[in-house]
Amino acid sequence: MNKISLTINGKKIEAVPGQTVLEVARENGIDIPTLCYYPGTKLVGACRVCVVEIEGQRCLAASCAMPVSPGMVVRTDTPRVVEAQKMVVELLWASGDHNCLVCEANGNCELQDLVYRFKIEKPRFPIEPPGYPVERSNTMIQRDLNKCILCGRCIRVCNEIQVNEVLDFSERGSRMKVGPAFDADYIDSNCVFCGACVDACPTGAIVNRQSRFEGRPWELKKVRTTCGYCGVGCQMDLNLHEGRIVKVTGSRDHGTPNYGSLCVKGRFGMDFIHHPSRLKKPLIREGGELREASWDEAYSYIADRMSAIKAKHGPDSLAGLSSARCTNEENYLFQKFIRAAVGTNNVDHCARL
Ligand code: SF4
Ligand code: SF4
Ligand code: SF4
Repeated sequence: MNKISLTINGKKIEAVPGQTVLEVARENGIDIPTLCYYPGTKLVGACRVCVVEIEGQRCLAASCAMPVSPGMVVRTDTPRVVEAQKMVVELLWASGDHNCLVCEANGNCELQDLVYRFKIEKPRFPIEPPGYPVERSNTMIQRDLNKCILCGRCIRVCNEIQVNEVLDFSERGSRMKVGPAFDADYIDSNCVFCGACVDACPTGAIVNRQSRFEGRPWELKKVRTTCGYCGVGCQMDLNLHEGRIVKVTGSRDHGTPNYGSLCVKGRFGMDFIHHPSRLKKPLIREGGELREASWDEAYSYIADRMSAIKAKHGPDSLAGLSSARCTNEENYLFQKFIRAAVGTNNVDHCARL
């Protein structure tokens, strides 16, 4: 493909036609701050944090939505650019309730990072949070629109990537907000609790409710794994705090098969691991009561009972049901055992939970 040349901050750069100024700058190690930009979704140029100066253009341009053109001369670091970016951040800060001390996003907040980057000690404008009630009507996702910066990332990820089409903007001007139709809570909408909006939100406006107060972002260790709930094999990051899984996040950098998306089971269904009611030892029923047993005892009991049933009623009186949460190898061995050792073709698989 023919490349085009442009200049960013005095550096000659080659780019592919159709790329944006932001993409080309980042590919070449030139940092431009962003907030509303979210890879994989439509470019909206809404927040104006990524503005740059382009020679010959009167107004600053949103670099995330500006395609490169031959001979373009771009500056990302002039006083005019920095002053505009700083003012956007100050306005966003002033329009919300940003008490980082009690915010779950503290340490993992793109607005907080920009306040620090631009060395803003206090916004020049009066702080006027809208005073929305915090939504806590479900056990998985908490929404606090007082921390929303109206970047629209949650809307685009829900509509364009998850294709659930739950979210949109409503109202106008200073009363503009995001949410499901008719301002319903998530639990009363057609939200499927995939949690993609949690991952996409750059602030503490949408957070994972299960992991609140379970560990600060810098204390969490991420462990990449494959979801065991079904056969898709989604890649996910278990977020561990002191050896406990406190939340699950999608792995956008991994690519196939899920490109960072998860379903409600993978995202919010891992709490069974540390649940106090989880069975950790086999139980054998005796005289109508369940008692704990060792694995050796349980396997011997199963083998004895299966042998007795087979001897009395034949192999077709037995059946095996395997699980989608086992590996292919385990499932192969299971069907082999049922067919070759037990002697019946009565074997099936739950396919999904
Ligand atoms: S959303 Fe970000 S800036 Fe606002 S309170 Fe939370 S951490 Fe602080
Ligand atoms: S949890 Fe999923 S379906 Fe529900 S609003 Fe967020 S992105 Fe949309
Ligand atoms: S809730 Fe979060 S992702 Fe959605 S518009 Fe507000 S700040 Fe952006």
